[in-house]
Amino acid sequence: MYHFRGSYLSEQIQKGLLILLVALNSSCGKEGQSVTKECLIPSDQTGTITGHWKAKPVPVAVIANDFSSAEVSAISAAIGSWNAFFQASKGFKLYLTNSMPAGTQTFTSATICGQNLVSANGFTAPILIQKTRSGWPANWSSAMALTSTCPVAVSGSTYRAFISGVMQINFQNFFNSGQPIPDLQSVVTHELGHLLGLDHSCSGSSSSGIPSCSRADPDYVDALMYPALGFDGKQGRISRSIRTNDQQRANCLY
Ligand SMILES: [Zn+2]
Repeated sequence: MYHFRGSYLSEQIQKGLLILLVALNSSCGKEGQSVTKECLIPSDQTGTITGHWKAKPVPVAVIANDFSSAEVSAISAAIGSWNAFFQASKGFKLYLTNSMPAGTQTFTSATICGQNLVSANGFTAPILIQKTRSGWPANWSSAMALTSTCPVAVSGSTYRAFISGVMQINFQNFFNSGQPIPDLQSVVTHELGHLLGLDHSCSGSSSSGIPSCSRADPDYVDALMYPALGFDGKQGRISRSIRTNDQQRANCLY
């Protein structure tokens, strides 16, 4: 049987780092979501924080007419998962806006820091979710989505502050007939974790502050921010809930 394993991919540009992990199996099945208010970044995960948003709530925009109503529902549900957690733990929420104009604006990892999504072009949201239908980097073809953030250092602050972020979803290599079909809500929930400042719970190779997935704590393998999402045939597995390790790390950011 054809078995495909795709990867998530997180990119942090200019002042950040680039991470690509492939061909790692994911846990699946346990979809309940309980809330912890604990802030905890384990000593082997200190390198897995990329920044945070200073102002809250955080607006999230989709380009008008870019997504079907079913896809918008999946995106809304992903945002809802983070809201259910953050409202219970930290008292703030993301919100979805339709303020992005229809059109062909595309943002790439090379341009995001040069774009002011907050005020330029009438955009009102610093986070944009968009489909990418062509031009996806060939060497990242197994990545279902690419999230880029633009962080700036803040004097006296532990974490850098994001000024913009773009989530590109790979509609070139996935989601179409004959291609692997990921669970969009799972993908967006994971990518929102990146946009909120969480890097993967573990990595293909360990380095300081980033544990190796091959020897990782079971909680890291169980995490939403595990770097890969498996497929059953061409159908992507479900991983929609924000797990304990994700919550503990996110609680330290806000
Ligand atoms: Zn990822």
